[in-house]
Amino acid sequence: MTLGILGGGQLGWMLGVAARRLGIDCVFLDPAEACTADLVGERIRADYDDPDALAELARRCDVITYEFENVPATAAASLARTVPVRPGWNSLETSQDRLVEKNFLIDHGVPVPPFRAVDDVASLRAAVTEIGTPAILKTRRGGYDGKGQFVLRDPEAASDAIDAIEARPAILEAMIDFDLEASVLVVRGVDGTTKAWTPIRNHHAEGILRRSECPAPGVSPRAGSAMMDHAIRIAEALDHVGVLTVEFFVTGDEVLANELAPRVHNSGHLTIEFSETDQFENHVRAVTGRDLGPTDARHGHGIMLNAIGDSPSPQALAEARVATVDAMGVVAADGNPDDDAVYHGYRKTPRVARKVGHLTITDDAIDPTRSDALASMVPGAVVD
Ligand code: ATP
Ligand code: MG
Repeated sequence: MTLGILGGGQLGWMLGVAARRLGIDCVFLDPAEACTADLVGERIRADYDDPDALAELARRCDVITYEFENVPATAAASLARTVPVRPGWNSLETSQDRLVEKNFLIDHGVPVPPFRAVDDVASLRAAVTEIGTPAILKTRRGGYDGKGQFVLRDPEAASDAIDAIEARPAILEAMIDFDLEASVLVVRGVDGTTKAWTPIRNHHAEGILRRSECPAPGVSPRAGSAMMDHAIRIAEALDHVGVLTVEFFVTGDEVLANELAPRVHNSGHLTIEFSETDQFENHVRAVTGRDLGPTDARHGHGIMLNAIGDSPSPQALAEARVATVDAMGVVAADGNPDDDAVYHGYRKTPRVARKVGHLTITDDAIDPTRSDALASMVPGAVVD
């Protein structure tokens, strides 16, 4: 069995680690010069819409998946002619465009923040009159880590806002004064079986995820079960196969869906240590037609800290008794496998705002002194 993966970043790498553990080979497609996923599989280095590269990938693989949702429609269609692409086109089409996504969510009974479609300064002015300020202008396509967004505080700034997003088709969304953010990951198999992980609480700064925690502190049982029900309903409505992530804004018992990702997700990295079966393994199990593994927790408490812009110092990690994973995602022999903390380095060249690794802490109940000390050595995990 060979699994083709579009995208060779850290998500591709962690998918490859899980696949290799299950005895599945991976072939990646990615145009970059160097990729984290090169550690775990062969790669075709070409653009995602290169017809020869797509033909080669389809020929070499039994099934294709992806680490990002912006797979070009032409690529998905050409692959799908000869090999299953999972999750399928429904999931991609819905999650690639924020307007399509929001309308889909409403049609399936999932509440979302108030929004309006915006195409130019005139439609933005009209939208501001209805939505009010503050509001966020978001491009319909292509955004990630808060890119392609403009916070509109003053209706007079409409024309600046349109310039800031280069006049691309967009939506204007009300700024929600939520209590907290959470995500729910679900996985759905080829046979329609679904499993969900417990909701995860997420802390963002400047549009970038910094820290995730499970069980999610501050999430009421009602809000938690509403989010899990919504996520499972969405996966079923999309006829999704694989992991699906739904991000939510939570205020008391009320939940509003922010966005979908038809894939494994940064907020689910803690499942590697925290859960019986992690998001990567269950995604690979689902897309290759295998039975899904249990999603139950193995620990009382898990926290993940993103390293952004730079890596923590290896010496500081060693002194704090943090284990590190090797190229195959295995806790290195020099680390203590029983340790409560593991650092996953992505072997990427540091760059401003770039995610270069993550550190996961698991325990029955994590001592805040311990998590604060570790957070202080992970660049980007704490924002003043
Ligand atoms: P990613 O793909 O990295 O999750 P993104 O660029 O697709 O991010 P969003 O998820 O839409 O963008 O927004 C990023 C973050 O900005 C959110 O997690 C939240 O913290 C904040 N944000 C976005 N929309 C709103 C909103 N309507 N009200 C309040 N905060 C918001
Ligand atoms: Mg998001």
